[in-house]
Amino acid sequence: MAAGGGRLTAVGDPERDGWRLGPGRRPFFALCEETDVPGTGHGLSKGASLCGIPGDRLTVYRGPFDPTRDTACPGCRAQVLGDPEPTLQDLLRHRVRGAVPGPLRAELLAALKQGAQVGLWVSGRAAELVRRHARRERIVEGGALVEAVVGADGPLGLARVVHGTREFLVFLPQDGRPFVARAEPGP
Ligand SMILES: [Zn+2]
Repeated sequence: MAAGGGRLTAVGDPERDGWRLGPGRRPFFALCEETDVPGTGHGLSKGASLCGIPGDRLTVYRGPFDPTRDTACPGCRAQVLGDPEPTLQDLLRHRVRGAVPGPLRAELLAALKQGAQVGLWVSGRAAELVRRHARRERIVEGGALVEAVVGADGPLGLARVVHGTREFLVFLPQDGRPFVARAEPGP
C-alpha cells in the first residue's frame, strides 16, 4: 500500500484486532498512554489524547486504541463509542489503576468496584488542598508521599472515597503518578 505522502493512515485492522465497527464506521485512533501513568489506554487525536492529556505527556504506540478493552480510559471510550459520560467512579477507578501499586490501591479498586461513592474530587495547589480537605494528622497510611506532594506544592487533584469504616484519599499530582493514602474517618 502507498504510504499516503508519508502520513500515517490506518493504524489497525478491525478484522485482525477483533473490533466490531458500528454503523457509520468508527474512526481509528492510535493507542497512547500517559507516560507517568501506564496501564490505561487512551486514543490519540491531534497531538493530545481524546480526553485532553497533552501530547508531551503521552507515549504513543503503533496500534489502535481499542475502546472496548477493560483498560481503556472511560473518557476516551465515551468519545469513540458515543457512550454517555462516564461516572465519577469510572473515571476515578481508571486513575487509581495507574496509581502507585500497593495494598491500598488494591483495596480501593475493590471498593470502587463494589460501588463505593466518590465523596469529593477537587483540584488546586497541593498545600492548600491538603490543608482544607485532607488534614495530615488524620492520614495513617501513605503519609510520606503526601509530604512530598505538599512540599512540591504543584497542581493537584484530590479525591476522597469513604467505604464502610475506611476513608481513602487519592492524590492526583499533575506532574507525577497518582497514589492512594488512607485517613482516619473525620468528624
Ligand atoms: Zn483518555
